[in-house]
Amino acid sequence: MASRVCLVHYHEIGLKGKNRAHFERILMDNLKAALAAFSVSTIVRISGHILVTFSEAGQAEEAFDHMLRVPGVARVSLAFHTNREPAEYCDAAVKALGEFGEFQTFKVAARRSNTDYPLTSIDLNRQVGEVLCEAFPDKKVQMHDPDATVHVLVVQGSVYVYAKSERGCGGLPQGSAGKVVTLLSSGIDSPVSTWMLARRGAVPVPVHFSGRPQTADTSEYLVQDIVRALGPEVQIGRVYVVPFGDCQREISIACPNALRVIMYRRIMYSVAERIAQIEGAKAIVTGESLGQVASQTLENIMAVNEVVDIPVFRPLIGSDKQEIIERAQSIGTFDISTQSAPDCCTLFMPKRPETHARLDAVHEAWDMFDHEAMIEHLVKHVEYIDFKTSCYRRPKELSQIHTSLAPAEQAC
Ligand code: ATP
Ligand code: MG
Repeated sequence: MASRVCLVHYHEIGLKGKNRAHFERILMDNLKAALAAFSVSTIVRISGHILVTFSEAGQAEEAFDHMLRVPGVARVSLAFHTNREPAEYCDAAVKALGEFGEFQTFKVAARRSNTDYPLTSIDLNRQVGEVLCEAFPDKKVQMHDPDATVHVLVVQGSVYVYAKSERGCGGLPQGSAGKVVTLLSSGIDSPVSTWMLARRGAVPVPVHFSGRPQTADTSEYLVQDIVRALGPEVQIGRVYVVPFGDCQREISIACPNALRVIMYRRIMYSVAERIAQIEGAKAIVTGESLGQVASQTLENIMAVNEVVDIPVFRPLIGSDKQEIIERAQSIGTFDISTQSAPDCCTLFMPKRPETHARLDAVHEAWDMFDHEAMIEHLVKHVEYIDFKTSCYRRPKELSQIHTSLAPAEQAC
């Protein structure tokens, strides 16, 4: 009798030459972490795919959608696993096409990964095709661009048969590109930019600036909800929280009104860079989009960017809000981001923020308060929340400084 399995296809990993085995290993580990709630029995490589088997019936079907969301997964196929008996795999082909959904035209695409099987791919196409024509007499065979394709893959003693196959999120497995610190608010944009870097194989380490103690801590909980919504497929192992309210107050008293936001951001970038050093992260990521709000003009981006030496990535810089919203909906963060919560963005905001800051005025304002001491203070009092993941490695330095702050681990 056929059992249900998932076949994971990956593209870009295959391009990585000698690194291929290493990348496949990371992807298999990440799939295992993403499927921790399922009764996974094995995750192994077979013939250019990763095969995931389950010990309980119905689990392959349920796990299917989750696997599509794992970075590095180009495609997932829900297959029947049979032996090499023609009656078995032909029966599986009928079932596979039956569960495909609406179609008018179809074809069979057979492939053998070893040539000891007596039938060639062409023979297999014909054999399975005949059975399908009998089972679906009102449907047509069409070799070019059919609605449905029934794949028959012969690998050693097994045959995998599938028609249901969907595109995954693509990209590279997380952990293959190192760490990045992401500036994560509870707004719509930064969860998307965080996700985008995760999809390119990075391990995001979010830093959230809260308005606490001048505001409530609601935004901190929303940020945790965002991390949980992305997981367990997208892995985030730690979120840093910086209570920023008192420092913002100090800045708002010391600096000209119109330049406050730029001062807040220079502090945020500086603290993020320090956390990046502690974490061994190689870049900062923000959700900025050119011209979207006052602080995101070219002049203002430059006035903020100059305080850090490491690269700052802005994957959404050229995106329209509607595109970002659609992505936020598809990754499951939009509904959380639209819950209103005061954070440092809403605190001590000037009526008319500067939109085209002049650097000399910015430097003057920067020297109106002890920014070095402020950055030092914020780094020293940073808090963090840990989540269970397989690909995040904790830095030693911070746990030495902050053993007392380390909270209980939370399930992602
Ligand atoms: P978002 O929807 O991501 O909050 P936004 O359109 O509201 O973005 P801004 O508030 O100007 O724009 O923020 C620009 C970027 O600065 C954000 O995308 C995020 O990367 C970072 N940022 C803003 N507020 C915070 C915060 N409270 N904590 C951490 N990073 C923040
Ligand atoms: Mg915001």
